[in-house]
Amino acid sequence: MKRRSIWIIIVLMSVAMIGIGALQMYWINWSIKLGKENFEINIQDALKDVSEYLRRQEQIETNSINFSNDSEKEKRLKKIQSQNLDLRLREVEKRLPSPAKLQQLIDSKLSANGIFTEYRYGVFSTRRNSFVIKNGNYQVDDFGPQVVVPEYTDGELQLINSRYRIDLYTSVNSTPGYLYLHFPYLNSFVWTSTWKSLLAALLFTGAILFCFIYTILIVFRQKKVSEMKTDFINNMTHEFKTPIATISLAADSIKSPKISGNVDKVTRFANIIKQENKRMLEQVEKVLQMAKFDRENLNLKLSQVDLHTVINQAVANISLQVVQKEGNVEAKLQASKFIIEADENHISNIIHNLLDNANKYTPEKPQIKVSTLDRAESIEITIQDNGIGLSKEAQKHIFEKFYRVHTGNLHDVKGFGLGLSYVKALVTAHSGTVKVKSELGKGSRFILNIPYSQPKQ
Ligand code: ADP
Repeated sequence: MKRRSIWIIIVLMSVAMIGIGALQMYWINWSIKLGKENFEINIQDALKDVSEYLRRQEQIETNSINFSNDSEKEKRLKKIQSQNLDLRLREVEKRLPSPAKLQQLIDSKLSANGIFTEYRYGVFSTRRNSFVIKNGNYQVDDFGPQVVVPEYTDGELQLINSRYRIDLYTSVNSTPGYLYLHFPYLNSFVWTSTWKSLLAALLFTGAILFCFIYTILIVFRQKKVSEMKTDFINNMTHEFKTPIATISLAADSIKSPKISGNVDKVTRFANIIKQENKRMLEQVEKVLQMAKFDRENLNLKLSQVDLHTVINQAVANISLQVVQKEGNVEAKLQASKFIIEADENHISNIIHNLLDNANKYTPEKPQIKVSTLDRAESIEITIQDNGIGLSKEAQKHIFEKFYRVHTGNLHDVKGFGLGLSYVKALVTAHSGTVKVKSELGKGSRFILNIPYSQPKQ
């Protein structure tokens, strides 16, 4: 898959995700709004029911005075008229049923309209200009007429500012009072009906997002692996081309009559062939070794290894190349305990690989330092160079197979990207650790810790 196509898919998917998210937010918002509107309608209906019930109740009470015979019909009418007149003058709190009954009535009308959230209520008298009944209690003991400029309490302010109110016993020319309702938990009541769908929407969107990001990461990783493999194949072809060409040239030379008679020259060319052959064999060995680690458990051939001798040998081997670059390798072996239980061959390869890298990745005048130190249960080996260094990002990956830092101007540094993964695999097999400390342009430090003895299997 081309990088461009991946990016197009990422952009498309992101746009789609944002679209779906926005659409979901819109629907949820809409359903909250709808819930609120429904709630509002239900409250208004409940309030109307209460008011209507109170009005009818009063009428029934007034009309229920019994008169024994027809002759009193007129009396009765007069009485009703006077009572009505009287009613108009009576305080609203006197016309209402007891606060407990009023509360019962509000309760039943609210639940009949599907509203089950907590509420506060108050009856406001227009004549007194204050609340006369509040949440089940009378607010006045003196029922006489009074007009006060009230100072409302917080609770009363909430009631007075509430949208939910209905007038009580309204007649043509007066409204003696209002019933106010306030719902302190209105928002949470509406939310309880929507939070489940919101949570489900969030969960599903989260799952899709997670899968999407995960898939993209895998695609990128696979792409990288495939690039690294291509690099590896290119490298390998390149590494083999030179010895093959050299061998071919040497063979041609031996065949030529001018040379075939000269034993010295034939031996020289035969030696070249042998040398190049050895180089190719080493390369093949490296690759094969790595392939082997993939499939097999490492079987270490453990023995008591003198680490300082191994290091000194490796230093001697590399020093020729370093000196050619006008550099210097220095061994500062300070550990007092340097005989460790390990696989000598692998330990030697590890040190060689690290020294080889220190030299390879220091283009000019390498100053390479190898040191050892005693640690509690292990020996610490540090290999330091003053080379090109490694970025933080590269440091995360150098121990991966086939990984090589692309530096453009360093085409001449050859390698398969296998050396450090070998180091890591073998140090781990020895129950040790390998760490890198490096700064780009300043050099690198590889720190190995290998235990003195291996755990018994
Ligand atoms: P290679 O065969 O490429 O050297 P390695 O596994 O040994 O493979 O190293 C992986 C990569 O880590 C190298 O390609 C190089 O970019 C980087 N690297 C390794 N050692 C050093 C070092 N001492 N200084 C800077 N970069 C290093």
